[in-house]
Amino acid sequence: MGAAYKVMLLGDIGVGKSSLARRLAFDSFNSVYKPTIGVEIYRHLLPSVAGEPATLILWDTDGNFGDAVLRHVYVKQASAAIIIADRTRPETLTTMVRLGEGFSEMMPGRAMHFVVNKCDLPAAHGIDSVVDRLRAETPVTETSALDGTNVARAFLETAIAIRRRGH
Ligand code: GDP
Ligand code: MG
Repeated sequence: MGAAYKVMLLGDIGVGKSSLARRLAFDSFNSVYKPTIGVEIYRHLLPSVAGEPATLILWDTDGNFGDAVLRHVYVKQASAAIIIADRTRPETLTTMVRLGEGFSEMMPGRAMHFVVNKCDLPAAHGIDSVVDRLRAETPVTETSALDGTNVARAFLETAIAIRRRGH
């Protein structure tokens, strides 16, 4: 089975946290919006992370927690955070950056990955240059939970980063 890693999924309401988790775990997508209440947990086995299996335990959080998510949800023992934004709504990138700062303060040294989701839709004005700037400091993957683009890659890269850091 290999190691199991707890990974927080954070980000504004409606950016696609639950859709990305379901795309990864079940390879499915549902366009009917069903808000997450509290936290839902998904497990997903990655057969080969740098040559060895690893299980991701995804903590899919309710966007309604807002910035308080890091106080209300049990972040301890998280190996990483995947922090998600929606490329059609610029304000969700601001939230992503803010949550990233909060997570790295609380969990220094842990892996962090930004995901800019909904790449099947046109980006809002200015998003591409923001993404380029963010990339200088934090890995960024552009995904679509709808068509599956880069979803497996975003989670695999996070798992590789966790393994490289050793926790
Ligand atoms: P969450 O609140 O962050 O968990 O967001 P959800 O996963 O519930 O998704 C919110 C809405 O965005 C739903 O209507 C989804 O169907 C839609 N959605 C999620 N991911 C994508 C995507 O990659 N492309 C498009 N076009 N819609 C998406
Ligand atoms: Mg959700």
